[in-house]
Amino acid sequence: MERIFVTGIGTEIGKTVAAAILTEALQADYWKPVQAGDVEGSDTETVKQLISNTVSRFHPEAYKLKAPLSPHDAAQREHTQIELKNIQAPKTENPLIIEGAGGLMVPLNDTDLILDLIHHLDAKVVLVSQNYLGSINHTLMSCEILKARNIEVKGIIFNGDPYPQGEEIILKHSGYKRLLHIQHEQVVDKTTVKRYAKELLKNSATLRSDVPSPGMVTDLARKDKQFVWHPYTQMQTADLAIPIVRGEKAMLYDDKGKRYIDAISSWWVNLHGHSHPHIAQRVSKQLSTLEHVIFAGFTHPPAVELASRLLDVLPDGQEKVFYSDNGSTAVEVALKMAIQFWANTGKPRNKIIAFKNSYHGDTFGAMSVSERGAFTQPFHPLLFETVFIDTPVPGKEEETLAQFQDALDKHQIAAFIYEPLVLGTAGMVMYEPEVLDKLLAICLKNGIIAIADEVMTGFGRTGKHFASDYCVHKPDVICLSKGLTGGTMAMGVTTCSSKIYDAFLSDDKKKTFFHGHSYTANPLGCAAALASLDLVSSGETQQRIERIGEAHKTFMEEIRLHPLVANLRLRGTILAFEISTDSGTSYFNSIRDRAYRFFIEKGILIRPLGNVIYLLPPYCIETEQLNTIYSEIKAFLNQLQSDA
Ligand SMILES: *Cc1c(COP(=O)(O)O)cnc(C)c1O
Repeated sequence: MERIFVTGIGTEIGKTVAAAILTEALQADYWKPVQAGDVEGSDTETVKQLISNTVSRFHPEAYKLKAPLSPHDAAQREHTQIELKNIQAPKTENPLIIEGAGGLMVPLNDTDLILDLIHHLDAKVVLVSQNYLGSINHTLMSCEILKARNIEVKGIIFNGDPYPQGEEIILKHSGYKRLLHIQHEQVVDKTTVKRYAKELLKNSATLRSDVPSPGMVTDLARKDKQFVWHPYTQMQTADLAIPIVRGEKAMLYDDKGKRYIDAISSWWVNLHGHSHPHIAQRVSKQLSTLEHVIFAGFTHPPAVELASRLLDVLPDGQEKVFYSDNGSTAVEVALKMAIQFWANTGKPRNKIIAFKNSYHGDTFGAMSVSERGAFTQPFHPLLFETVFIDTPVPGKEEETLAQFQDALDKHQIAAFIYEPLVLGTAGMVMYEPEVLDKLLAICLKNGIIAIADEVMTGFGRTGKHFASDYCVHKPDVICLSKGLTGGTMAMGVTTCSSKIYDAFLSDDKKKTFFHGHSYTANPLGCAAALASLDLVSSGETQQRIERIGEAHKTFMEEIRLHPLVANLRLRGTILAFEISTDSGTSYFNSIRDRAYRFFIEKGILIRPLGNVIYLLPPYCIETEQLNTIYSEIKAFLNQLQSDA
C-alpha cells in the first residue's frame, strides 16, 4: 500500500496534526520512525487520541530518543547512532502515514538526512507549510529540493492564519496542489480531525484514488460479469473475476485490500514486478512526447534504440527487427517471413515442422502450428497442415530426431518452429539443449529456417538471457513478446538473420513483406521495453534470477519424495511438477480447479495447467514470499494426501 511521508518546512508547524488528519482521512496506519523528545509523551500518543476510525493501527517507533533535539543530537546524547537499515516500514495492508522529524534537510546521522529516509522508505510526500514571515521562501526551497531528489509530492497542507496571496505564490511556483488549510491550534479533539479529514477527501480525489471504498468490491465483479467476456473462461460456470486495483512488486491487491503473491507473473509477462517506477517513468515521459506515429515511411527514437539494443543482446546472427503487437502476431510474422522467403527465392516450400504439444498463439497461423486439441478443435478444418513431431523430452530424443529426418524425406520443409527448452502451455514440458542443437544442426544442413518462439522463454526466464543461448547453433528467426516490455504493455517483435531479410530485397515490388499492424512499433511499447531492458541487463536482476533458481532447487529436494509429486523439473526461474492422479495430465483435470482455489484463498496466484503446478515468478519476488508459496504448496499436497 501507499506510503505517505508527512514532512514540514520546519519544526513545530503542525505536522502531527496534519498526519492525524491524513491518517483519519485515508483510514491509514500511522508510524513515527524517529521520535526525539519523548518526555512529555510521543507524537504517536497524540495522534492515537485524535483518530476515530477503528481500522488505523499505530506502529512502534524505530528510534525513541529522550532529548527534544535534532535526531542526530538526541541520538548522540544517548551514545547511539541512527541507521537507515534499522528503519524498516511496518508491513500493513492499509496505506501508511509516516511522520518525519523536523524538515527535509534535518540530519539523522553523519551522512543521512530526512530526505534520504524518504527515499529509503520509498514514500510519497505531503508537505506541511505554515504562514509566518519567511515561510514562502522556506516552502519553495523545500519544494525545490523535493523535485531535485525526484520525490513524488501529493500536495501541501497549509497551517495557521489564512494568507491566500502567499499560498497562491507557493502553488504557482511549485506546481503542487493545495490539499487543505488548517489551523492546528484548533485541533484538539476527534471531531475537528474528522471534519478536516472529510474536507481533505473532498478537496483531493487523487489522495483517495488508492483507497478502495467499501462496497465497490461486489459491484465491480458484478458489473464485470454483466459487460465483460474473459479469455479462456467458461463464463457460465466461472467464479466472479477478482477485481485488482493495484500492483506493487510481486504483489497484487484486490478491492478489499486482500493481497496476492503473483507466482506466475500474470500469465508469464511480468519480469520486474508490477507498476515498476522506472518503466512507469519512461512510458509516462514518452506518452507526453510522442504517443504514436505511423511506422511505414516514418520512424522514431525509441523504435531505433530498442531494435539496436535487442540485436546487441540477442543470440548471434540476428540482424533485423520487425515490430508487431503480441506473441501470436510475432509468430504470424515469423511464419509468413519463412514461407515468403522460399517464394521469393523461387523455390517454394510450404510445410512447417512443429512439436506435437507446442503452443504458439491463438491466431490462425499460430494455431496451425500448435497442438491440435480441445482449444483448437472447432477450427481444425481451417488450419493449414503442419508436420508434427514429438517433443524430445529426456529419453525420447532419438525418436524425435528420427521423426524429424523422416519429415525431411517426405516433405518440402520450409521451417521448423519450436519453443526452446520449455514448452509453456503444454505444462512447462522441458527438454535439453543437446537435442535441440542436433535438430538445429539438421536445419542448418538442409537450409530449413529455424524459428525460435522465445515469447515465454525470453529475457532471463530460463536463467540465461534467451533459451537459445544454451545452444551452440542459433535460430534464423526469433519471436519475442510477453516479458519484452517487462509485462507493461502488449508488443511483439520478430527478428531475423540477414539471409532472411536479403531475400525480400528486390526491384520487384511483389517481393515486399506486405505485413503490418496499425500500432507497429508503438512508441509507448518501445519505451516500456527499453526501460525493462535497462533492468534486465542489471547485475542485480541476474542475481535475483539465480537466487530464485537456488530457492527452487532447495524446495525441489523438500518435495521430491512426496508420494503425490511426479516429474519435478526446473529451468532457470521456472519450477514445475505434476500431481499424480488417475486421470492423467489434462487441462480439464479437476485437481486444477481445486488447486487454483486453494492458492487464491491463501493469497497466492498460481494457475495450474491441468495437474501441473508451476511457478514462474517475477524476478523481484522476495525470499519470504517464495517461502510462503513453498509452504502453501506443501500444505496443499498434504491436504490432498490426507483426503486420499
Ligand atoms: C503466450 C505465447 C504465445 C502467444 O502470445 P500472445 O501475446 O498471448 O498472443 C506464443 N508463443 C508462446 C511460446 C507463448 O508462450
